[in-house]
Parts: sequence; structure tokens; C-alpha cells
Amino acid sequence: METKKKDIRALTKEQLRDFFVSQGDKAFRGNQVYEWLWQKSAHSFDAMTNISKETRQMLEDHFVINHIRVDQMQRSSDGTIKNAVRLHDGLVVESVLIPTQTRTTACVSSQVGCSLDCRFCATARLKRMRNLNPDEIYDQVVAIDNESRLYFDRPLSNIVFMGMGEPLMNYNNVLKAIEKITSPEGLGMSPKRIVVSTSGVPKMIKKMADEEVKFSLAVSLHSAIDEVRTSIMPFNATFPLKDLREALEYWYQKTKNRITYEYVVWKGINDTQEAVDALVKFCRFAPSKVNLIEYNPIDDGEFQQASEAAVEMYKKTLERNGITVTVRRSRGKDIDAACGQLANKQ
Ligand code: SAH
Repeated sequence: METKKKDIRALTKEQLRDFFVSQGDKAFRGNQVYEWLWQKSAHSFDAMTNISKETRQMLEDHFVINHIRVDQMQRSSDGTIKNAVRLHDGLVVESVLIPTQTRTTACVSSQVGCSLDCRFCATARLKRMRNLNPDEIYDQVVAIDNESRLYFDRPLSNIVFMGMGEPLMNYNNVLKAIEKITSPEGLGMSPKRIVVSTSGVPKMIKKMADEEVKFSLAVSLHSAIDEVRTSIMPFNATFPLKDLREALEYWYQKTKNRITYEYVVWKGINDTQEAVDALVKFCRFAPSKVNLIEYNPIDDGEFQQASEAAVEMYKKTLERNGITVTVRRSRGKDIDAACGQLANKQ
């Protein structure tokens, strides 16, 4: 029976160096292989041309390189690209390339399915199968960087963790992936160009603050009234707004980074003056930005985008209170690549 080989990309550089020493080779061979695995994204040991044939065979005997495979690529009429990404065990996640005049943003997944239960989100209907490994997150970014170069003639410029899953429920692997993405030994991207979006897990927000991470934080708030928020995001019962706010205050004190809130205004749910007043009050403790995102229907008819007038009321009230507001139009709707639509039609 074949013994199960280990995924070589689960090893740190130090572990890889130690492995070569244990094989009677030089530690620096570990550096060379590490460079092939990450910076050069080699898919096979055979691609490692400055490594001897014997060494490549030895690696082959011990390890596998588990790479993602982009199974299907769909292009929207607005240029957005959605990748269906197959993982080594056959499971599928999605990632999205969002082009604008000046930027290419990758929207990546952090879990297969999601453990949260936001009632307006298509991904929430899938069971959370497992967390993604750091290399599976990294590979999604590399795939989109390649597509950006191919179709838009420029490298990827920004990354948002707004695909499938709750990044803070897969904290360690997300951080390891970001470490690789930002390291000169990986993609060398600036952490300032990375946004981690969370539904709000207070303990993990505090942990991030303690670890002085350099990327930005976005919080999917959608309501600053507990009763309403719990009705649309049931896990709010476990992590109520008081705890979320306390964690965010802590985050701000430590990082001095502005907080971005994502917010959809729905008809009959949060399209009232009372709702926007609660939002203003909630945001007040730190410089804040609110992204009013358009609702992308997920075929159940339960939620409906609020009227233009309600969105305008939000915009005016927030601005009057010194809070930056942007109104976001959805991208990639025609291919179900917009926020909350991932996994809508598989
Ligand atoms: N779990 C993380 C990241 C994934 S969701 C989080 O909650 O932040 C990315 C964003 O899309 C979140 O702000 C989420 O609230 C929003 N979203 C989910 N479903 C949506 C829908 N149907 N229409 C518009 N936005 C949606």
C-alpha cells in the first residue's frame, strides 16, 4: 500500500532546510526548493531545473505538491472573471478577479463553504466542509495575478478576503497565506493592499490587533441594532454588537487603522432613520468608512434592495456625521460572481 505523501508546501522554510540536512544534503538546497514552490509557483519537482535529477526524485518519493486547478473560468460582460477552483481533494471554491480602470482586485475564498449562517448569502447555504490551507489561498491569488497579466496586461494590485468563508474562523491559515503573499520570497505585495473582511469575531479581532497585522479590516455589519442583526446574521446572538464594538475599539487603539464597514440596505429591514442613527452611533468611536453595497439577490425573494431614497438617506446622514461613505455597484452579477452569490448555482 502506498503511504500518504506529505504536501511539501505545508513545510516552513526552516523545516525544508532541516529536511535536506537530514538527507545528508546542504541546508541551502531547502532555500532553492522553497523559492521554486512559492516565488516561482512550480507545479512539479521536474520543473526545478537547478536541482539535480536524483534530488528531484528523492523529493518525489517523499512529497507531493498539491496545486489548485482552475476548472472553469467565466467572464462577465463588465470584465469580471470568476474562477471555479478545484482543490486536491476534489472540493471546489470560487475566486473572482475584479478589474477597474486602474486596479485589479482578487476576491479570494478562505473556507470551503462557511460556518456562519447569514441569511442573505448564498455561501451560507453550503455546509462548511473544511478550512483552506495557506497554499490553497496563495494559489488563488497566483491564478488571478496570472489572469490579470494575461487579460489586462498588468499585475494584480489588491486582494480582498471576501470570497467564500469567514477568514477569522480560519485565522492561522489566512495569516500564513498573507505572510507568503506579502513576503519578498512569495509575491512581495504590500499588506496595505489587502483587506480581510469579517462578519465580526471579537476574540479574533483582538488577536489580530495584538499581532499588529498590517492589512486592513472590513466588518460586515449590515445592522447596528442587535435584534435586527441577529435576525439576518444569527451568529450575532453569540457575538453581540457590544462585544464586536469593544473588540473594534481595541483594534483601533492598537493599530490606529480606520475601520471599514460593509452594509447592505434592505427594504423593510434596515431602511429606516432609526437604523442609520444606530449605525452612526456605532461607528463613532473611531474614524470609519461605510461601504453601502448593493444587494445581490440569491433567488429566494426574501431580501430586497432598498429604494434609492433610502440609500441616499444613509449617505447623507453618514456624511453629515463625518463618516466616509461609498456606494458600491455590484460587479460580475451576470455570472454570479458578486458579493454573496458565490456558490449560487453549482
Ligand atoms: N465572511 C466574511 C467574508 C465573505 S462575504 C464577511 O462576512 O465579511 C463578503 C461580503 O459580501 C460581506 O460583507 C457580506 O455581508 C456580503 N454579502 C453576502 N451576501 C450578499 C448579497 N447577497 N448581496 C450583497 N452582499 C452580500
